[in-house]
Amino acid sequence: MTFNPNAEIRSDNVSRGGSGGGFRPGGRGGIAIGGGAGGCLLLVLVLVYALMGGNPLDLLGGGGAAPQQQEPVAEGGRLQECETGADANERDDCLVQATVESADSLWSQLAPDSGIRFQEPRGRVFSGQAQTGCGAASADVGPFYCPADSTIYVDVSFYQQLEQHFGADGGQLAKAYVVAHEYGHHIQNLEGTLTRVDHNDTGPQGAMVRLELQADCYAGVWAHHASDTVDDEGVPMLEPLTREDVASALSAASAVGDDHIQGEVAGGQVIPDTWTHGSSEQRQGWFMRGYEKGTVAACDTFAADQV
Ligand SMILES: [Zn+2]
Repeated sequence: MTFNPNAEIRSDNVSRGGSGGGFRPGGRGGIAIGGGAGGCLLLVLVLVYALMGGNPLDLLGGGGAAPQQQEPVAEGGRLQECETGADANERDDCLVQATVESADSLWSQLAPDSGIRFQEPRGRVFSGQAQTGCGAASADVGPFYCPADSTIYVDVSFYQQLEQHFGADGGQLAKAYVVAHEYGHHIQNLEGTLTRVDHNDTGPQGAMVRLELQADCYAGVWAHHASDTVDDEGVPMLEPLTREDVASALSAASAVGDDHIQGEVAGGQVIPDTWTHGSSEQRQGWFMRGYEKGTVAACDTFAADQV
């Protein structure tokens, strides 16, 4: 997956910040991305979370709230190093920003056609800990979406975990899939699906798994249209995806399957009744469905007899 080096990614919607303040060079609360003791701690925390059977592609805040404009709790600075697609090809924080902006371009068109009143989410790149509209979050939960402040939170050091401990192949689309999945939760928030779903209904055919598989399908819908998305000036944001790109996304979808995490990652027993995100096969299947069809309608996991 390659961003068009000339595409602009200067949105103010994606910012950086952890607990108690945002990132500003020389300012208070500055946080080094992906390094130092925080990085090591994160590594441990993500592993502990996985060992307990938790799934790192999560959704905070349970039932969610209406996406009224609530400011993120921690105000951060814009990602000043991220200006163009060339930066997104080089740096993971810029990749997060560029993927959010590409998804903005797509969903601002697609959502109204499906009767969804579209509002852009915010994105926040953080390290270690973040204050969110859903409370304090540490990086052990991995990337997540908080409905109360309509914000996608990504700690980019998770990408190392995704590859090394969960077994994704480390490709760029594997990383973008994570962002596009969380963006899918934002669409579900706008649809009102997040508040309608019983968050205690776990298991391979349960409501929680259907919710997560729909977010995977929405990530596939983004991938289907990715090379058609444009920046504010109308410049295409991405080059057409290759077969290898799609294989990367599938490797990530497989890596975060509940059966894979409970079994191979945690080395424990696979207990389907506890699943909240779906098996590797289910997650790959719904990503591919969204990728092949490219429509919101194709992602109605709640109407499917079996998911
Ligand atoms: Zn999710």
